[in-house]
Parts: sequence; structure tokens; C-alpha cells
Amino acid sequence: MPDRKVDHLLIGGGLASANCARWLREEGARGSILLVGREPDPPYNRPECSKGYLRGEEEREETFFRPNEWWAEQDVELLLRTSVTALDAERRKAKLSNKQEVEFDTALLATGANVRRLNVDGCHLEQIHYLRTLGNADAIREAVADAEHVVLIGGSYIGCEVAASISKLGKRATIVMQEQQTLERGFGASAGTFFQRLLEEHGVTVHGEDELERFEGSERVERVITRGGLELVADAVVIGAGVTPDVQLAKQAGLELGERGGVRCDSRLATSAAGIFAAGDICEYESLVHGGAHVRIEHWDVAFNQGKTAALNILGRDVAHTEVPYFYSVFADWGELEYVGPAYAWDEEVVRGSFADRAFTNWYLQDGVVKAALTFGRSDELDAARRLITQRTALDQAQRTALADVDSDLQQL
Ligand SMILES: Cc1cc2nc3c(=O)[nH]c(=O)nc-3n(C[C@H](O)[C@H](O)[C@H](O)COP(=O)(O)OP(=O)(O)OC[C@H]3O[C@@H](n4cnc5c(N)ncnc54)[C@H](O)[C@@H]3O)c2cc1C
Repeated sequence: MPDRKVDHLLIGGGLASANCARWLREEGARGSILLVGREPDPPYNRPECSKGYLRGEEEREETFFRPNEWWAEQDVELLLRTSVTALDAERRKAKLSNKQEVEFDTALLATGANVRRLNVDGCHLEQIHYLRTLGNADAIREAVADAEHVVLIGGSYIGCEVAASISKLGKRATIVMQEQQTLERGFGASAGTFFQRLLEEHGVTVHGEDELERFEGSERVERVITRGGLELVADAVVIGAGVTPDVQLAKQAGLELGERGGVRCDSRLATSAAGIFAAGDICEYESLVHGGAHVRIEHWDVAFNQGKTAALNILGRDVAHTEVPYFYSVFADWGELEYVGPAYAWDEEVVRGSFADRAFTNWYLQDGVVKAALTFGRSDELDAARRLITQRTALDQAQRTALADVDSDLQQL
């Protein structure tokens, strides 16, 4: 016998679950909603962990998805510091770490992602940090307060954003990364060079085409040694080496997984088990705007919007998730990038505006078809980019020339 029964079980205490709860209520769900999350904090906006919250400019409560009283007002039960330890997809039952068994009618699986850990010599020394949670941000903020030199491992979003925040706090930030240019894996070498210069101009040192070899120190980290032979003084280290979707529970429940490591879903975000949906970082869904390709995106806006789509489908509305994935990244108060796509591969880049003027949209095309657009200071062009990505038709030479011309009207393309 289960200990209790709920109408809607939301597994994971992040953004996707939170926004699903919100939309279930906004769309008139009357049944019981239980949100189970293993972190001590209520659902919050994780991006602040590398930005305002890390720099001490924002209070903890300001990062919360909604104020604490909102959950009770909405009659959504929050069960924090609690994990779902097993899921029986057929019988629709879940076991919790508090030993309770919960029966449900529908469930959302939104377990997010875990940081990729680097197992090198010295990795257990003190003041080597990863960043995923508010608790991690607290620990980094404390470490940075006492540090002069902070080394970032990885030149992608976390490495760049944390380097910017630390530099803004007046500390010396040094990035070590495999890439030649920061952020080049997602955006290519030209845009990568632009972002790297932006960081360097603000005092960040970047060592590309190198790799972490080991950490040295007695109790706490003192030096970072790289494969290329660098010995970098480090009072603290933050590792941003990517994340892996947390599909442990999905695997245990026998749900179908996808090629990108996530939980395979259809365009309605339904998993292979009836009544169970997925959203956010783990969700590998059939994207109709990408011609039915399965995509999985680890970004805020996608988790947010998928929470809504999942809620609508939990309520039987039968709607496809057709948002063009959007993401952003912020370099302290020096600027912000925005991107729609994603382009997993491209054979042409077209720049509209200029890197030198710090106002550009970089378009990524494959066989003449717009796959993605990255903008810095030209956000107004994102709507046209969304339309062109959805359109999926090849642009001719004249259209590609117009794409590059800031005086041409993108609506005409
Ligand atoms: C430091 C940082 C900065 C970021 N900045 C940006 C940014 O600038 N722009 C952007 O677009 N995106 C950014 N992101 C990414 C964005 O925050 C994520 O894509 C988004 O939070 C994903 O939401 P989610 O709900 O899928 O997963 P998560 O936010 O990871 O939430 C999942 C939750 O489920 C919990 N959980 C897992 N398994 C269980 C279980 N079995 N039982 C109970 N609970 C469980 C986890 O502990 C976690 O709390 C950033 C991420 C980080 C870490």
C-alpha cells in the first residue's frame, strides 16, 4: 500500500518542475501537486550562481523562483531535502528518501544535470570547487574573499562567467582550457576570439590549447599544473568542465534514453512511459522546429518553457513544444550574449554588424539554411533569427549578402 496518493508528482526541485507547477495551476489543475527536490532551497534561478549572487550583489531570496509563501498559496506541496530514490513507471509509484511511497496519476521528471568531475592528482585538496547550486556559490564566494589568484578550469559558460565575476570582485582570474578561444565550441573561433578579448581587456588571463594535469598543495590547493607545463599559483580553483544529464532515475525506471544522453521524449515531452513527462536539462525531445530532430539543451529558458509545455500536456492539451531554443550568458556588467539555435554543425558564418564595434549578430548556416544566431548588442534581430531557423529554407547569395548588411530589412528575408 502506498503511503499517499497525489495527482501530479514533480520530480526535481529546479526551474522546469517549478514552472510546471505554476502552469498546472494557471491552467486550472485542481488536483494535488507534490514537488520533490533534494536541495535545501526552494526552486531558484540557477544562473545567478555565477553572476549577481556569486558577487554578493543579490540576496538568496532574490534568486528564488517565487517567494516562499507562494507555494502554499498555490496549494503546491514542496518536499525539500528529499530525493526520489526509485520510480515504478508501470504502477506509477515513487519511493522517496524519507521512506514514503507515493502513488501518482501523472509525473514530471526534471532531475537536471550534474557537474562533470575531473579525477586528477590533488583533486581532493581544499578550495577546489564546482558550481551548480547556491551552496556551491556560497563556498566559492567565501573562498574568493580570501584569495588573490583564482584559476578556472574550462573556457565555456561557467569558466567565462565566473572569471568575469571574480575579476569584477578585484581578484586575479586565470582560465585554463582545451579550446584555442573561449566559448569557441558553441560559437566558433571568430566569436570565441571576441569573447576572449572582452575577458582579457578586463584583466582575465586565458591559457588556451592546454589542459589540467594535476593540482598541488598541502591541505589546500596552491598550484595548478597543466599538461603544457604551466605552474599557476592558485588560492582557489573553480572547475567548469560541463555537466551530464541526471538520468539515473529514468534509467532505473526503464525509460527510453536518447543519443544525446537525455530522456527520449516526443514533441509533447512525453517519455516512453505513459503519464510520465520530462523537461529541462534531461529532456531530449523531438523538436518540430528542427525538422523532428531530437535535441537536448541545458539552458534556463528551455527548462522554463518546457515546464509550461509539460504542464499543458499533463492536462491533456496535446501541444508540441515549438519554442526555438534560446540562451544567454552574461560577462559581469561588460555585456551579454544571446543565442537561438542550436547549430550542432555549420559550414558558413555571416556577420551582421561588427565585432570591433561590439554590436553584431553572427549567423550560422549549413547549406545556406540558417541554423543559429548569436548576438551581442543586437537583440532585436533574434525574432528574425527564430523565423529563419523555423523556416529551414536555403538563402540564395543575395539573401546571404542582405543578412550581413545592417541596412537591409531582415523581415524581407
Ligand atoms: C552556475 C550556472 C549558471 C547558469 N547560467 C545560465 C545562463 O546564464 N543562461 C542559461 O540559459 N542557462 C544557464 N544555466 C543553466 C540553467 O540554469 C539550467 O539549464 C536549468 O537550471 C535547468 O533546469 P532543470 O529544472 O532542468 O534542472 P536543475 O536546475 O538542475 O534542477 C534539477 C533539480 O532536481 C534535483 N534532483 C535530481 N535528482 C533528483 C531526485 N532523484 N529526487 C529529487 N530531486 C532530484 C536536483 O538536485 C536539482 O535541484 C546555468 C547553470 C548553472 C549551474
